[in-house]
Amino acid sequence: MKTQSAPILSDLLPASVRADFPILQRKMNGKPLVFLDTAASSQKPQSVIDAISHYYSHTHANVHRGLYQLSQEATDAHEAARLRAARFFNAASEKEIIFTKGTTDGINTVAFCLGEHSIQAGDEILITEMEHHANIVPWQMLAARKDAVLKVVPVLDDGQLDMDAFDELLTDKTKIVGVVHISNTLGTINPIEEIIEKAHAKEIPVLVDGAQSAAHQKIDLQAMKADFFVCSSHKMLGPTGVGILYGQEKWLNALPPYQGGGEMIETVRFEGTTFNQLPFKFEAGTPNIAGTVGTAAAMDYIANIGIEAIAAHENSLLDYAMKQLREIDGIQFIGTAPQKAGLISFLLDGTHPSDVGVLLDKMGVAVRTGHHCTQPLMQRYGISGTVRASIGPYNTAEDIDILTQSVQRAAKMLR
Ligand code: PMP
Repeated sequence: MKTQSAPILSDLLPASVRADFPILQRKMNGKPLVFLDTAASSQKPQSVIDAISHYYSHTHANVHRGLYQLSQEATDAHEAARLRAARFFNAASEKEIIFTKGTTDGINTVAFCLGEHSIQAGDEILITEMEHHANIVPWQMLAARKDAVLKVVPVLDDGQLDMDAFDELLTDKTKIVGVVHISNTLGTINPIEEIIEKAHAKEIPVLVDGAQSAAHQKIDLQAMKADFFVCSSHKMLGPTGVGILYGQEKWLNALPPYQGGGEMIETVRFEGTTFNQLPFKFEAGTPNIAGTVGTAAAMDYIANIGIEAIAAHENSLLDYAMKQLREIDGIQFIGTAPQKAGLISFLLDGTHPSDVGVLLDKMGVAVRTGHHCTQPLMQRYGISGTVRASIGPYNTAEDIDILTQSVQRAAKMLR
């Protein structure tokens, strides 16, 4: 198959974007690194690396406790990051932004707190067949703890949610809906506003797993009306070990805290403790200050380029990649929903995904293979895994050309 470099992309994002990511200068197995595993974790621009380094070189002290200037500067930097996140996602208030360790931590927090607050025997928890394990297991654990029932919305063959089934499964017994915004395996963009509207019509809260959407499309939390939205900084050009749990203030006020300790208290007596105000009630212990500073730098970086421009660039690369990959003999795509983000899962007839992955790595192409932490979804399609290429703002048409050529070569070698 003939491939050509597309002129489509260069004008959507500044050419300098790629150069902002120092790791992309590396060679892998003697070949230029083509990084197509952003869905697992994104690479970091120099400005994020510098912000973290600057913080540790100039500003570090513990936050919220010290009266001395350095501690106040660290507190200011940490709280400025919270404000940055609130603006980035258009939350109504920075009190609604809880810093966590990541998406998994955020979902576990909500599952635990909501469980303590309002889940009883016989209540129903509604999730979907395309959830990441992080949005399955905490709800299963809650269901087991409270004798509640986990219900699952099925996925149609092309990777869309079966919304007719959703309508039937959403009942008066449903106490929470947990749904992924963009599937990390299928790339499907779920109709999140419709889901929230229908759940709210029955006064059911919705948790949106935004791990794959937060850095790839504009998120306006006030417009979305999600009760809870969770994401991970490391998938949005920021550092590992930091996430954001957004919760509407009414919920965060109503829910009990998750962990006890320093920072989350107002007064502690052996007779009893009173809890701190929002958002600190949910942040026990010393936070990942360098991480939140790095997260704010990542949000600045994304905002400077423009999230809409990033989305347009990634969509354009997705179209370009699909056109090219479709030409490969015996390729089968898993996830072909009309509303799809920059993420392609595929299988090659007569080959195993991990063999393809190993060969691509030898050619300098980093993709993910396996079940992508969505084993029930793999079961749904009767497969053990896929090869997944996922796109970030630093990818180019040339990356896609190399991916296509490498997949063709791998297919020849393995068949
Ligand atoms: N949900 C989705 C949709 C994801 O893609 C991921 C990460 N693969 C997670 C949750 C978990 O994120 P983390 O490991 O950062 O907690």
